[in-house]
Amino acid sequence: MDERRARYLRQLQELGEADLVLPGEQGAERGLQDSSRTASPSVVTRRESGGVGRAGAPAAQARTAQGVPAKPKPVPLPAGVVAEAPTGGDDLFAADPLRQLATIDALVPVIDACRKCGLGSSRLHSVPGEGDRRAGLVVVGEAPGATEDETGRPFVGRAGKLLDDILAAIGFRREAVFICNVLKCRPPGNRDPEPLEVAACSPYLHRQLELIGPRVILAMGRPAAHALLGVNASLGELRGKVHRYRGIPLIVTYHPAALLRNPHWKRPTWDDVRIARRIYDGDGA
Ligand code: URA
Repeated sequence: MDERRARYLRQLQELGEADLVLPGEQGAERGLQDSSRTASPSVVTRRESGGVGRAGAPAAQARTAQGVPAKPKPVPLPAGVVAEAPTGGDDLFAADPLRQLATIDALVPVIDACRKCGLGSSRLHSVPGEGDRRAGLVVVGEAPGATEDETGRPFVGRAGKLLDDILAAIGFRREAVFICNVLKCRPPGNRDPEPLEVAACSPYLHRQLELIGPRVILAMGRPAAHALLGVNASLGELRGKVHRYRGIPLIVTYHPAALLRNPHWKRPTWDDVRIARRIYDGDGA
């Protein structure tokens, strides 16, 4: 294994992402050839077997005689290229401000102060999400609506009432799950989120999911599924499957607001959420 590849695999391991591979790939080797794709959390899935490489075995890491991982040898840079190491050691992402936030509550003021897109200035309240910070089930919707904007709480309008009923049907009280959205601020007039807004806001969602570490994620509606899975498929194509978000089973179903418009979709939604419940109970996936 050449030095560059060894260094790449070591970095993945330090990030705890050594078992992330692109769908259909056999190992991390292709990730090395196309690292821009592996860098995106939305296009990777975790191999069930864990580990890296064709046989699923962890990458071999050079060790000292004492068994301590050896310090990587400095790699000479091409003439004229200067590399500034980020503070905080060898971890390239150690300086990422979101990674410094160690709790769901610590994210709240950061989300509230966020002006990475225009929505931070047009909304009344940010809506970071609420519920059990150690929930086994996380529900992800699209974006706050008018009532959510007024109250700062997710899913409290008509769609929220329906969501409460859906959760109750599979035996969850609202307080027992964590409920949030892809966008933390309301788009004016409830228009669809724009791609740049999703790009700006989704790191908060990714960090929330990382901190909670649920057993199962319920993505309600296409925008939530797209933001989490990085695929541009129809709801029909996304439903009825167990997807993976960083190794966590993810079920896609209709958004409650869509069910208010089309009650015929309640039955398939019921089928979907029952699958989520079964996964939560450790039955399958
Ligand atoms: N729709 C959503 O997607 N989220 C909410 O919080 C409310 C309505």
